[in-house]
Amino acid sequence: MVVLLRHKPMKMEQLEIMKCRAGVGSAELNELDNLKLGWEGEGEMDAMIDCRVRGRNCVHFKDYRFAVNQAGGDGKIVRSSSEVQIDNVLIAGDRIFTFEVKKYNFDLIYGDEVWTYTNGEKFKNLMQQVSRQNDAFRHLLKKSGAGMDVYSCLVLINPAQTIYSLPYGKNILVHSAVGKFLDRIVRDNHYSYDRLAGFLESRRLAKSMYDAPVNVGVDELRGGVFCEVCYMELERVHRNQYRCSSCERDYDLLSVTPRLIAELKILNEGWKLSSYLISKYSGNLVSHSYIRTQKRLGNIDY
Ligand SMILES: [Zn+2]
Repeated sequence: MVVLLRHKPMKMEQLEIMKCRAGVGSAELNELDNLKLGWEGEGEMDAMIDCRVRGRNCVHFKDYRFAVNQAGGDGKIVRSSSEVQIDNVLIAGDRIFTFEVKKYNFDLIYGDEVWTYTNGEKFKNLMQQVSRQNDAFRHLLKKSGAGMDVYSCLVLINPAQTIYSLPYGKNILVHSAVGKFLDRIVRDNHYSYDRLAGFLESRRLAKSMYDAPVNVGVDELRGGVFCEVCYMELERVHRNQYRCSSCERDYDLLSVTPRLIAELKILNEGWKLSSYLISKYSGNLVSHSYIRTQKRLGNIDY
């Protein structure tokens, strides 16, 4: 069984950090809300899959991202490539499934082409992304030598959402159908997929080519130490101890320091980090000499 951790989307982390340290506009707040909702939905789907594949001989890839070459107009492969990201790839019962998870807090009316909001305004063609993923993924599998078929589903995970005019048998699972579908398909694999999983791992993109550094200088950011779970500012309770009053969680100096470095890297990997810069970013709560010492001891790296 291969179950890998799902990372928070980089854009979501950037916006959360920017919200604490620089303030963000309403469009960005809106984007953050959507990303958070999507992230929540993915976590809910993970929980539903995880509990069914536990102890079974299945393979589950979360956030599987790979590069695809785009053919030029003349049919030749051109250098520019794009990427495809699939929320879940599940190999179970010797079949391959992909699940694209959407969590929306509004109702929709199904359409063969374009879906609409209940007020009649156009939303988008939700199945287009799923069929594009399916094409690209089947193409990738062919290269691995495994010419397996792929069953791709759109999952609308919010139980409070209603989809009107949804026809049966369209590879679309609303919340009440997901569990039943998984109960039906999650079976042990009888063949080994180690080689295929290895191939997929080798083609996996660790970083999205759409991730970009934030549009501010490091000097424009407010110094301080924030909770890595809920992004609340931490309170200093002792010289060496910080507390998130929202999570009721304590952090010591040696756990807040790597987080500061991780934040800086999430915001802009190109920033040149020094003990002075990290100390300033901490709002001078972590001294530069402490940072230097911990680096020398091999406890942190930047
Ligand atoms: Zn917290």
